[in-house]
Amino acid sequence: MISRRATRVISVGDVLIGGSNPITVQSMCNTFTSDVKKTLSQISELRAAGCEIIRVAVPDMAAAEALPEICKQSPLPVVADIHFDYRLALLSAKAGVAKIRINPGNIGTRDRVKAVADACKERNIPIRIGVNSGSVDKHLLETHSLIDTMIKSALDQIAMLEELDFNDIALSIKSSSVADTVSAYRKISQSTNVPLHIGVTETGTVYNGVIKSAMGIGSLLLDGIGDTIRVSLTANPLEEIRAGLSILKTAGVRSGGINLISCPTCGRTKIDVISLAEKAEELFQDIKKPLTIAIMGCAVNGPGEARFADAGIAGGDGMGVIFLKGEIVDRAPENELLPRLLKLINSMGEA
Ligand code: SF4
Repeated sequence: MISRRATRVISVGDVLIGGSNPITVQSMCNTFTSDVKKTLSQISELRAAGCEIIRVAVPDMAAAEALPEICKQSPLPVVADIHFDYRLALLSAKAGVAKIRINPGNIGTRDRVKAVADACKERNIPIRIGVNSGSVDKHLLETHSLIDTMIKSALDQIAMLEELDFNDIALSIKSSSVADTVSAYRKISQSTNVPLHIGVTETGTVYNGVIKSAMGIGSLLLDGIGDTIRVSLTANPLEEIRAGLSILKTAGVRSGGINLISCPTCGRTKIDVISLAEKAEELFQDIKKPLTIAIMGCAVNGPGEARFADAGIAGGDGMGVIFLKGEIVDRAPENELLPRLLKLINSMGEA
C-alpha cells in the first residue's frame, strides 16, 4: 500500500491537484497556440484519450491573443507556459487560463514576479514553478551539485512567491537524467508541501522516452510522491497520455480499464500470440471495467499461469481455449478467439 505524501491542494480550473485528490495526467499541445482551431482540435483529441489538464506554449503576442478563445472553448483546464516575458503571463491570466507555468528565475525582477503573482491571486490562478536542470543558475553550480542547485532554485522561488503572499503553488523539478530527477523530487518532497508535478524531461522518442518516464515517474509514485504527471515524449502527445495512464495503473494509483497480460511465447506456441495481444490491446482500450485479461500461448500452461486473470485465451494448434479464472469455458478457431473473448468481457458484471 502506497502512503502518499501530504501536500496542499490547488485548483486548476475544476481539477484539484494535491492532497488525496486523484493523480492527474497532463500533456502539452504541439500546435501553434495562435492557431486556435488546430489547438482546440488537439485538446479534444487528447481529452478523448484521457488527458485531464492541457498546457499550451505562450511564446509571443499572437499566442497570448489566441488564449481567450482557446480558454473559452477548451474542454480541459488550460495552462499557459511562459518563459522570460512577464507581460505574456499577465495577458494569460486575463485570458482566463487555469494555471500559469513560469520559472520565476527567468521572469526578471521581483517587481515583475509580483505583478504576475498579483494578477494570478486576483483570479485564483495557481502558478507552477518549473525548474529544469538545463536552466538553473550557473553561479550556484560553482558551489553546489546539480541536484542541490535545482532544489535551492526551487525553494528560493517558492519562498519568493510566499513572501509576496502567494501560496497557490505547484512545483516541478525535472532533469533529463532519471536518477537526478528522482533524487531531486525525493529530496525536495521533504522540504515543502506544495503539490508536485512530476516527470522526466527531454526523454526522447517513444521507446526510450516511455522507459525513462516509467522508471522516473514510477519510482516516485511508489514512494508516494507526485500529484500530477506528464510524460514528455518526442512524439504525438497522444502517446504521452497513453503512457501516463499506463504508468498510473501500473503503479496502482489509478484503477479502471483492462490490464492486459500476455505470455512471452516459446517453443510451445502454435498461435500468433504477438498479433493477438496487439489486436487485443487495441480492441479493449476503451473498456472501462477493471479486469485483468490474459493472452497466453498454450493451453497446457497458459490458463494455469494466468489463473489470477479474470478471463483470457490460450492457444492450441490453429485454435484456442477461452478461460475464466483459470477454468476453460469455451473453444474456438484462432480467428474467433478475440471476438468471443470480447463478448465474454462485455457480459461480465452484467448478471
Ligand atoms: Fe510458452 Fe505456454 Fe508459457 Fe506461453 S504460456 S510462454 S506458450 S509455456
